Amino acid sequence: MVDANGALPLPWLAAPLRELLQRQQAHALLLHGPQGVGQFELALALAQGWLCEVESSEARPCGRCASCKLVQAHSHPDLLVLVPEALQLGWGASDEDDAPTDRAAKAKPSQEIKVDAVRRAVAFAQITSGRGRGKVVVMHPAERMNGIAANTLLKTLEEPPGNARFVLSSAAPDALLPTIRSRCQSVAMAPPPAPDAMAWLSAQGVADAEVLLAATGQQPQEALAWSRQGVDAASWSRLPALVAQGGAEALAGWPLPRVIDALQKLCHDSACVAAGAAPRYFPAAAIARGADPAALDAWRAELTRVARNAEHPWNAPLLIESLVQQGRRALARKDLAKQGVSVHSPHERTQHAKRAVD
Ligand SMILES: [Zn+2]
Repeated sequence: MVDANGALPLPWLAAPLRELLQRQQAHALLLHGPQGVGQFELALALAQGWLCEVESSEARPCGRCASCKLVQAHSHPDLLVLVPEALQLGWGASDEDDAPTDRAAKAKPSQEIKVDAVRRAVAFAQITSGRGRGKVVVMHPAERMNGIAANTLLKTLEEPPGNARFVLSSAAPDALLPTIRSRCQSVAMAPPPAPDAMAWLSAQGVADAEVLLAATGQQPQEALAWSRQGVDAASWSRLPALVAQGGAEALAGWPLPRVIDALQKLCHDSACVAAGAAPRYFPAAAIARGADPAALDAWRAELTRVARNAEHPWNAPLLIESLVQQGRRALARKDLAKQGVSVHSPHERTQHAKRAVD
């Protein structure tokens, strides 16, 4: 949202925000684009703009009126933001109506936007606006609604109450029910121009922003998150050589989904270079030539299979070790690979990393 100085957290959102505030009349919007380009921030700024009470519509959201201050304080009576508890974005958890016993029994914060939260949003949209500028419900990430929750929302999206608007934000619109998508005006967001993203990352104190920007597929918020979690340009550039040597310790302490993502990117880039193309995620100098295409194919298939089962209670250190060893064999030069013939298929190896669930 816009702060008291009238500044957006992500400067490249200014143009799409202006355009949406001027032209967008739909009662339900779906903002979608790659992870980390700012869908959620745009959804909040849009809500703030609709609710802003400054006279000139050109100046909305102003960041300074009573309404803007309430949005900044997360306490505007006409704005409801639904996010899964696990994202910890500082907005009320979407499942806060759970009975205390349920909450105590829960080991982990919820990753979903639950049906109770959606029911609350539907009821919220039907109440008269407290400050007279309508009601806004922001849902992020919208694909985290389960099927029952989505069906609950459907009826309201079909016939939205007079002064309510819904803004769904998503990095995976294909994961939404088609009936939800078809009832929303679709707004596609592209990654910002690289110079804008790099200037923003540099202003946040990220050194060698270009490398992390490429590493994350041009997603500046992801690049910033990686940087804050200790991944820098040097450690990212060293990764291919370490994996080629079987050095799984380079990935120690990374969350498993990021390890899988990094190895998939390394596999992708090694295949590009082996085929004479430029790598996409790693600096060209970091990717060795001569990887074994057949072993790369097997590694890619195994990484895809593991990524699809990311929710499985893996023994992470064992799984990472196994995936890195498969990578080591794939990245070894073809003439040397014969020395490392494995008695296990990649699939058999990762089976060992599955923990028995009682
Ligand atoms: Zn305002």
